[in-house]
Amino acid sequence: MAKHQFQTEVGQLLHLMTHSLYSNKEIFIRELVSNSSDAIDKLNYLRLTDEKLKESFASWKGEINISFDEKDKSLTIVDNGIGMNEQDMISSIGTIAKSGTKSFVEALTGDAKKDSNLIGQFGVGFYSVFMVAEKVDVISKKAGEETAYKWSSTGTGEFDLSACTKESAGTVIYIKLKDDEVSEFASKYRIKNIVEKYSNHIAYPIFLNYDEEVTEELSEEDKKAGKEATKKIINEIAPKYVDRNGGYTSIIKTRIRKGDATPMAYIS
Ligand code: ADP
Repeated sequence: MAKHQFQTEVGQLLHLMTHSLYSNKEIFIRELVSNSSDAIDKLNYLRLTDEKLKESFASWKGEINISFDEKDKSLTIVDNGIGMNEQDMISSIGTIAKSGTKSFVEALTGDAKKDSNLIGQFGVGFYSVFMVAEKVDVISKKAGEETAYKWSSTGTGEFDLSACTKESAGTVIYIKLKDDEVSEFASKYRIKNIVEKYSNHIAYPIFLNYDEEVTEELSEEDKKAGKEATKKIINEIAPKYVDRNGGYTSIIKTRIRKGDATPMAYIS
């Protein structure tokens, strides 16, 4: 595992994100979903133009999966887009990569209150996740490449990078929530509400995956006959993303969707 220092401006930005008392923290979901959508756009384009990818992605369909686990205090956003290799991770989520984040940093005044208000005005991108995260792992495999990489950071000064295994191309953002953000963001209703509010325009299906215990509905006759309702768990789970160290097999899973799990956001 190799340790890398964040570019100075990123450190500055992360410090603000972690210590900001900004009230609109929910925008981190919008930013991550938007990154996933961009990554799917890129693969969608490449598979039509790049001979090497044409065949293997012939029947590919872009999608975004969000899951949460209250016990694990985590929220996970998964896309099957273009993915990132080691170099992409260093240059995209180790530095101030793009215009939105760059102009945000340029507009910083040093006054925490003013600066935290700026968060809402700029698309501050990936780093906004540190408003709610204690630790973030990004596990990604670039389309057409063999090795996957894991980027980890607690948002303080440096990040770790190591090779890992991942079956298919795309990116997993595994967010370990800060204790006081768990009840808010590891919540089916809250996530659904945020996605509908900000990401309804996203051109790919966004699935919210969760386990839920459903109590069987009993007919009046059954009730009279003294039958007791049983609970069943809907949504089976199948491990898909496996860390070489085995650490993620029980956490990052993709739910096999049952027929009634419709996408939350869909556009023509
Ligand atoms: P912006 O979205 O404005 O470019 P971000 O900070 O949100 O800035 O993201 C920085 C870069 O990291 C993106 O431009 C992209 O190259 C890379 N990136 C972030 N998330 C993903 C993802 N899910 N899949 C592939 N690349 C990503």
